Parts: sequence; structure tokens; C-alpha cells
Amino acid sequence: MYGRLLQAWGPQGWWPAADPWEMAMGAVLTQAVAWRNVEMALARLKAHGLWEPEAIVEAPPGLLEASLRPTRYFSSKAQRLRGLAQLVLAYGRPGRQGLARLLALSAPSLRQALLSVRGIGPETADDILLYGAGHPVFVVDRYTHRIFLRIGFWPDPRYRYHAIQRAVERALPPDVVQYQEFHALLVRLGKEVCRPTPRCGMCPLADGCRHAAGEAAGRRGGV
Ligand code: SF4
Repeated sequence: MYGRLLQAWGPQGWWPAADPWEMAMGAVLTQAVAWRNVEMALARLKAHGLWEPEAIVEAPPGLLEASLRPTRYFSSKAQRLRGLAQLVLAYGRPGRQGLARLLALSAPSLRQALLSVRGIGPETADDILLYGAGHPVFVVDRYTHRIFLRIGFWPDPRYRYHAIQRAVERALPPDVVQYQEFHALLVRLGKEVCRPTPRCGMCPLADGCRHAAGEAAGRRGGV
């Protein structure tokens, strides 16, 4: 699956941020919203002088929320971002030093620390582990689940984050770049091709996909 997507589309070069703090903020803000909205919100944070963890924690009431307005659910995202900034500062000041210490933790300790922030769930935590700290953990999301279910790699219609993650990590060697690329390719596939109504005719994985085979058999049976 990974090899065929990579062959069809090439490397995606995700995550689009070189600065680990920008990456971590992006991970918090990107849930349920397009990346261009995250970029708008990041630009507004910068313009309002709310870039560093210290500034986010000390932001005047309402300004953080106003800056995050393009990201939907901006109140809860402001709360999460404030929580993340507080966590970073608990590891040291200035915030960049705290962030470096936080990201240097082992994968289980970093995950536990991130999950202690109200509103940060396993996907956001693992985004930061994989893209910010370089730990080989596979990030699961709703696109992954839908694709795996249709293809036949994952049989359970329930969204079970950790079980899906373990299945991928058993199937692929623990390689950070490969996990990043695979996740990015699956996100692209889920957004552009394997949508709620799948476009199997243009899918690089159609050959061997259980759902596509079922659709084709249904069409043959109907003729
Ligand atoms: S062939 Fe169709 S159902 Fe299967 S992964 Fe591609 S788009 Fe999704």
C-alpha cells in the first residue's frame, strides 16, 4: 500500500514547518480544519505577537481566541494551545528551552505529558511525537481508518486508534521518514480520492482493494 502510493504520487514532504514550535502549534490547530486555515491562524498569531509560549500564556483575554478564529472551534483550540504552552514552560524557560527538553523525552513520557493537556488526544500527541520529536510512531486518523477498512487491511468499523496503530507498526519497520510519508500519502488519498463517496477509478490502490472489487462485481452482476 505504502509503496504503491509512493510510486504513484512521490514523497509528500509533510509536515510543512521546520520550526518545532510552529509544528506543535499546527498539530493542535489542524484538527477538523484545512491546513490553509491553520496557516491563516498562525499568521494572525504572529501579527498579534502571540508566537512564543510565554506570549500565548500571557495573552490578554480574548486575543488568543480572536487570532484562532479561522480554525473553527477556536475557543477550545485556544484552550489547548494555552495548555500546550503551559506544559512547555513547565519544562523550562525561555519556552524554546522548555520545548527542547519536552521533545527530548522518551516516546511514552512525551505522549503521557502531551495527553495531560486538556483537549489533546492521541492523534495530536502522536503528530508531535512523529513530526516534532522524530519518534517512529504511526499517526492514525479518520482517513486512515476509512481507507484501511475499504481496502480490507483493517476489519473493524469501530475507530480503534491504538489497535490500528499497532497493526501498522507491526507491518512496517520503525522508520520515521516512512511513517511521515505514509501518513501524508493516506491523508492525500482520503481527501482527494477515497472520499466518503470513493473515486475508485482514479485510485492507485484500486487493484487489490476489497471495496473496489465489490463495486466492480456489483456492476457486473447488474448487467
Ligand atoms: S479503490 Fe476506492 S475504496 Fe479502495 S482505497 Fe481506492 S478510492 Fe478507496
